[in-house]
Amino acid sequence: MGTPSIPARRRIGSSHTTFIYDGEILMDAMGFISGITQAVSAYRAAAQTLDDAKIAAATNELQVQLTHLGAEVIAMQNQSLQATERERALLREKNDLEDRIRELEKKVSERERYELVDVHKGAFAYRLKATSADGEPGHYVCQGCLDNKAMKVVLQRQPVTMNKDAICPQCRTEYWFNWFTR
Ligand SMILES: [Zn+2]
Repeated sequence: MGTPSIPARRRIGSSHTTFIYDGEILMDAMGFISGITQAVSAYRAAAQTLDDAKIAAATNELQVQLTHLGAEVIAMQNQSLQATERERALLREKNDLEDRIRELEKKVSERERYELVDVHKGAFAYRLKATSADGEPGHYVCQGCLDNKAMKVVLQRQPVTMNKDAICPQCRTEYWFNWFTR
């Protein structure tokens, strides 16, 4: 492999400072380190010449590189942190959606166990299909609650002294039934 190639836009001295969190951070860091190494070499070379102007220029360049690196390290840390937070938020969202899908699938399959029937002269309720009983006794559920609130509420028989045969304990809708003896 050797020295990783640094894209031109990422070379030291360019004004490009925007990082993309896609695994290229290492390459950027190596680019900065090689920039500092160069600045240190330049400083050493300048120091050997004992030329004040060259030493000052090399010192200045070294400081620039170090300042640059410090800023970039902070930027990298921030970006990495943001990426982690984004990942966590996305994961949470995904889990929430999966829960919601499971919940809906459960409701749909529960809803499919019932069929709409005329319980008394055009009054409707849902009746448990005999084929879906799965050991449960036959019963009816409130049409309004199931269709409008996605809520399964079993209709309860009213005492014979009451006006109607059955009632929904949730929405209080009362039902006449063809088959309850009054
Ligand atoms: Zn109801």
